[in-house]
Amino acid sequence: MKERIYTVPLNEAFDADTECAFCELHKKLNEDALRYTLGASYMEEDVRETTDNLGFCKAHYKEMYDVQNRLGLSLILSTHLKKINEKLDKALKSDFKTLDSAEKTRIFKKADSDKMSKTAELISKTEDSCFICEKIKSSMDRYVETFFFLWRTEPDFKNKVLNSKGFCIEHFGVLIDEGKSKLNQKEYAEFIGKIAPIVQESLKRVEEELLWFIKKFDYRFDDLPWKNSKNSLQRGILKTAGVLVDKINYDEADE
Ligand SMILES: [Zn+2]
Ligand SMILES: [Zn+2]
Repeated sequence: MKERIYTVPLNEAFDADTECAFCELHKKLNEDALRYTLGASYMEEDVRETTDNLGFCKAHYKEMYDVQNRLGLSLILSTHLKKINEKLDKALKSDFKTLDSAEKTRIFKKADSDKMSKTAELISKTEDSCFICEKIKSSMDRYVETFFFLWRTEPDFKNKVLNSKGFCIEHFGVLIDEGKSKLNQKEYAEFIGKIAPIVQESLKRVEEELLWFIKKFDYRFDDLPWKNSKNSLQRGILKTAGVLVDKINYDEADE
């Protein structure tokens, strides 16, 4: 199929046999988007116009800062800030007309503060929008679409999913939601019937591995093996919140 660009990474993500294949894909998309944003793209006019308008979320500012391309990030930020300053000026003038008049210094009344909707809207938009998040989301949407296509048409892929470690809660939610429109009623019922037990079992397994991990803090259990609990905290956080706090070595041998 022509969508090889999505089917290959999707298959590879399931082959990696992690706690959530979609988190695996997200991690790669995030790395690619960071590289793209701080690569030569910011010198392209259309990209810059988009970053000027959208800006970035808190997490991605931090991640971009950590990449240490100080010049690139400063350039991106300077024109984004210029845009914010222009928009903020317009919004404030529109919401609080006296800013533009001789009455500038009169006492700010409650009625004026109630009118500041354009400013509030601009601020919340600035906080919520993110060039990198949007870039990732459009690819993730295609992955989800391809996932359901393969589930319906490729028995090999379906088997991989059925033998997987399930998904994190967030991506399980995405599949429950998107499945409604991507599958017919019968297919959807079959899908939920097969996927839900896999997810539930995997969550219970991680819960038990965490309990074992906790147990190993007690010196009386020093001689007992770690079983599969060594990275259960990282895997537990991934399962619960879709956050990869540390690299997880899935081949970590039992002792
Ligand atoms: Zn996930
Ligand atoms: Zn973001």
